[in-house]
Amino acid sequence: MKKKLTLFTFIDAFGWEIYQRYGFLEGIIQDAHPLQTTFGFSSGADPSILTGRFPDEHTHWSCFNYNPEASPFKAFKYLALLPSSIFDRGRVRHWLSKAMAKVYGYTGYFEMYSVPFAHLPYFDYLEKRDYFVPGGILATDTIFDWCVDKKIPYYCSNWRHSEQEILASNRHEIEKGESRFNYVYLPRLDGIMHQHGTKHPAVKKHIAWLDQQIRSLYELAQGQYDEVALYIISDHGMKDVTGDIDLIPSIKATGLEYGKDYVAMYDSTMARFWFITLNAETIIRKVLEEQDHGTIVEDDELKQMHVYFDDHRFGELMFLMEPGMLITPCYMGLKSIPGMHGYHPGDKDSYAMIAANKPIKAKVESITDIRGIIEYELGI
Ligand SMILES: [Zn+2]
Repeated sequence: MKKKLTLFTFIDAFGWEIYQRYGFLEGIIQDAHPLQTTFGFSSGADPSILTGRFPDEHTHWSCFNYNPEASPFKAFKYLALLPSSIFDRGRVRHWLSKAMAKVYGYTGYFEMYSVPFAHLPYFDYLEKRDYFVPGGILATDTIFDWCVDKKIPYYCSNWRHSEQEILASNRHEIEKGESRFNYVYLPRLDGIMHQHGTKHPAVKKHIAWLDQQIRSLYELAQGQYDEVALYIISDHGMKDVTGDIDLIPSIKATGLEYGKDYVAMYDSTMARFWFITLNAETIIRKVLEEQDHGTIVEDDELKQMHVYFDDHRFGELMFLMEPGMLITPCYMGLKSIPGMHGYHPGDKDSYAMIAANKPIKAKVESITDIRGIIEYELGI
């Protein structure tokens, strides 16, 4: 029997537009397509790739959902009484997040970002488990569960490691020649583009480095296997930030009280609201409708995008910024940054991509189509 390796290389935020601008693996790639991403952030998109399903089915969407009863942050209301100058520092919060993940035994990506301590007790955190290992997703299965079920030997790199370590561990696995499917997870490009925007020389430099590394990994695989199916995939694109709005004061100016009348989560490109008192929705809706750079996303559209939940755990009212605009400060960060994703999936810079060293015959329109291609390549 011919020995075949299916090599899927995931490059975070390597959107269709970025790929078109910089090119990649010329001479190797034979076919490439844009893929529509899911509405929201990586916390919804990455599970959509691995499950082949949309957020309304696998139930992973935003990191924070409204659930005061189950909140692991209940004790933070006491910390909120301490001077914010200490706890608003990114490094202190990162350290606290790590300590908390350890105490609770969370294996997923856990970060409390810049959510004010006084407001954390209203929320539960979604990614408690590492979904890159079998059994990690809340509902449905992932491609890794599927491989375990079908007894297909595979290797998925550890997302906590650096790209150098991830590439080295994949080389090691390929040299052993036992794996039939490698999932190479490369997250750095996302961070570089958040920090510098999409046109900075650091972006070009990193893409050139990735090109060289993946080329070399592919050559190694070709030496070890009779056949190598190489795919490059991403979860979403990246938009250069053009402006910011300071939304939080406009909501505060209504006189409504956080925690008494309403609860809000201010993501960088989105604001989500839950209402406690009857008139709060009407008042907040009016403030949002008066904003120049964003729109309310109504339930019908959320349903079309497969991110609607009957219990509104992720928000009773969603406000989305126009592409390029940020809510600053927000609960994800206090300062503006040059690159962001999480805008409408229909914006050209939101598109993810898939490219391969062979023609892609299957229908590929959405990141949820990726899983079917992996299964097809693994021959079942
Ligand atoms: Zn990102």
